[in-house]
Amino acid sequence: MSKISLEELASLAKRRGFIYQGSEVYGGLSGTWDYGPLGVALKRNIMNLWWKMFVDDRDDMFGVDAAILMNQKVWQASGHVDTFTDPVIECTNCNSKYRVDQILDDEKKYLSEIDKYFDNAVGAVSKFPELSKDYTDEQGDILGKIFGEGRSPAFNTRQDLVEYLESNRILAKKFQGIFPHNYLTHNKTTCEKCGKILWSEAGLFNMMFRTTVGPTGTYVEDSKANYARNISAEFYNDKDENTSNARMPYVSDVNTVSFYNKNSVSYLRPETAQGIFTNFKNVVDSLYPDLPFGIAQQGKAFRNEISPRDFVFRSREFEQMEIEYFIDPTTWEAEFEKWVKLVHEWCEVLGLPKDKLHELEVPEEDRAHYSKRTIDFEFDFPHGRKELLGLAYRTDFDLMNIQNSSGKSMDYIVKGSNEKLVPHVIEPSFGVERAIMAVLTSAYTEDEVNGEKRVFLKLPDHLAPIKFAVSPLLKNKPELVAKAKEVYNALKKKHGSVTWDDNGNIGKRYRRSDEIGVPKHITIDFDTLEDNTVTVRDRDTTEQKRVSIDELTK
Ligand code: ATP
Repeated sequence: MSKISLEELASLAKRRGFIYQGSEVYGGLSGTWDYGPLGVALKRNIMNLWWKMFVDDRDDMFGVDAAILMNQKVWQASGHVDTFTDPVIECTNCNSKYRVDQILDDEKKYLSEIDKYFDNAVGAVSKFPELSKDYTDEQGDILGKIFGEGRSPAFNTRQDLVEYLESNRILAKKFQGIFPHNYLTHNKTTCEKCGKILWSEAGLFNMMFRTTVGPTGTYVEDSKANYARNISAEFYNDKDENTSNARMPYVSDVNTVSFYNKNSVSYLRPETAQGIFTNFKNVVDSLYPDLPFGIAQQGKAFRNEISPRDFVFRSREFEQMEIEYFIDPTTWEAEFEKWVKLVHEWCEVLGLPKDKLHELEVPEEDRAHYSKRTIDFEFDFPHGRKELLGLAYRTDFDLMNIQNSSGKSMDYIVKGSNEKLVPHVIEPSFGVERAIMAVLTSAYTEDEVNGEKRVFLKLPDHLAPIKFAVSPLLKNKPELVAKAKEVYNALKKKHGSVTWDDNGNIGKRYRRSDEIGVPKHITIDFDTLEDNTVTVRDRDTTEQKRVSIDELTK
């Protein structure tokens, strides 16, 4: 169990200036978060550390910073336009929408009930004699039980009927169709918002944020809106999608519709990875690195998550740090193992306890079809064991998609030979928000000092947003204040992230520093004026030592 609940974490983060709800002053915007002064420092420390470890400190790694808006063909070729979807179900009473796998009480139970249901159904219809045109009454009854009264479709052969059931089993296991509805209704699962049990069938929702690039075209207002919708539907169905006549309707609000050219559609990138793949050839042409080599990118990603939740864990706008490590396919197993080790090293530098980090070897049936091995690194977050980051061997899937749809060769010529190959990739994919949550959860510590409960963030020094706090013992003694300013300025010049605190008594100042994880608190007192030493108080042990100012600022 985590030492801190999600609510306590969010409340501490807000109170002390780490993370605020996005647009809070206007009631917030779900799934968006703003970083305050301490949060932005912590986030930068994490991202800079990552860049240092995976790019600057290595000879085989190269950075890129690609545009967030990319040609729509990128997302068509990558499969995101067609398949970057989550199953969604709606409460037909209040229209609240939920991601199906998140609202089920128990995903495993759902899946095993689905299997039981289809095993029974397939077992029953397999006993039918070969079908004739009409079902017998008995068969009709059985099919009525399977599909619902009056809902059984007609089939010409028993094999077709069995295949239909099997395809429905697959659908149900992907949380699609009527099955989640039946399960939720049977289990009396209520809508979290209105408390009713009135579920729709489940559908698919594409999580990419769509936008248009450039001026969008004609706006049709008010009463013309319906007319416009009809016209645009015709355009929309126009098969010749790439001509300039092909235009899509965009209902910008209830009363207006605008038309825009399909070619102007773009998306806010849902991952940084494609910006790496699309620059693979550029980097090879500019630098011709030896294989294996990696390209790294950090930056914003956007996903229109159906139900953003659990503080920043599932946001609609978040930050990723991704690497595509290009390899000769014959070496993939060994290279993969190296990355497993590196991921563990990274988690160690973040200060995450080993026993809270778990490797989930993703089974074949849950992996993307092109991936030969995927490990989800999970962490014991306050809301349970969840994915912190992913590591996947993606073969040559992405580069081949680009080669096939762009017509441009993604070949790499192996140095010193004429051998050409399209490299395969290993992709470690890190989420910044989840790293921040794991760091804060791990750092959160409670103990007792002088009989009183103390809360402090035991952050590793290299991650602490503020490295030193400096205080004059008394704020109404100008000579102490002047000396403390001297120390403060010297430390600030050297470390940047130093804070000044002369509020309240020294005990309160220590508590404030502890709560935001300041590793050392420096106090300037009357002895300092005599012997040029200060008190350095350690956050974790609360021990105090006299240290000379010279030593401190060195
Ligand atoms: P999940 O199954 O939790 O939705 P995912 O498997 O879709 O995650 P990936 O597509 O593998 O995630 O993305 C790589 C990493 O990006 C994740 O491990 C996570 O750290 C981060 N990430 C993905 N989606 C979000 C999000 N909505 N909010 C914050 N971080 C995210």
